[in-house]
Amino acid sequence: MSIANNLLKYKKELDASAVQLVAVSKYQDADAVLEAYNAGHRVFGENIVQELVEKQAVLPKDIEWHLIGHLQTNKVKYIAPFISVIESVDSLKLLQEINKQAAKNNRTIDCLLQVYIADEDTKFGLGFDEVVELLRAEEFTVLKNVRIVGLMGIASNTDTEKQIRDEFEELKVLFDGVKVSFFRKDDYFKELSMGMSSDYKIAIEEGSTMVRIGSSIFGKRKIKEA
Ligand SMILES: *Cc1c(COP(=O)(O)O)cnc(C)c1O
Repeated sequence: MSIANNLLKYKKELDASAVQLVAVSKYQDADAVLEAYNAGHRVFGENIVQELVEKQAVLPKDIEWHLIGHLQTNKVKYIAPFISVIESVDSLKLLQEINKQAAKNNRTIDCLLQVYIADEDTKFGLGFDEVVELLRAEEFTVLKNVRIVGLMGIASNTDTEKQIRDEFEELKVLFDGVKVSFFRKDDYFKELSMGMSSDYKIAIEEGSTMVRIGSSIFGKRKIKEA
């Protein structure tokens, strides 16, 4: 199957459940992204700043780029002029830097707080308590150039469906609680980004509004992993 065919298959399936598709193009070259673009897709996810900046420079400017990988504060300035959504915000310090760079560019940048839900040491993200702590902090409430539009999480890399489902369910419970406590009147807080190629069906059943799908659209990686 071609990239275009894979994409159209997912779009059809996801449109039916009103779930947004972020096509994860990490390690793919610009031509692969362009093939998906020409098939009508506009929302792409990347996890490395340098790769994202290089592709953004050569690809059509109406692409909505999502950063989905760990972001170092000293790299925020490279993506601040154009990034649509930073899905991987995992500290107040990072959020403050995003706010600063967004202001410099006369923008407001949409962000998701990445929440740690997996039973693994390797995943970045905030703990449930840290999410609440951040949203309560005076330093957060003064930020005018960032907007928290939802939460993001990555489930454990396991074949045990129940564990994955439980992790997504916990994140959904947190999402609902945060919505009521902090964003009751804010319509923009509505995204729950969870689900990848291997677990997106479970994620949607548990309330995902946004899935990040890479390998099953693009196939093999074309750029060597850093
Ligand atoms: C790579 C990646 C994805 C996509 O994973 P696939 O298994 O290729 O669909 C989704 N989310 C994040 C954060 C990723 O790094």
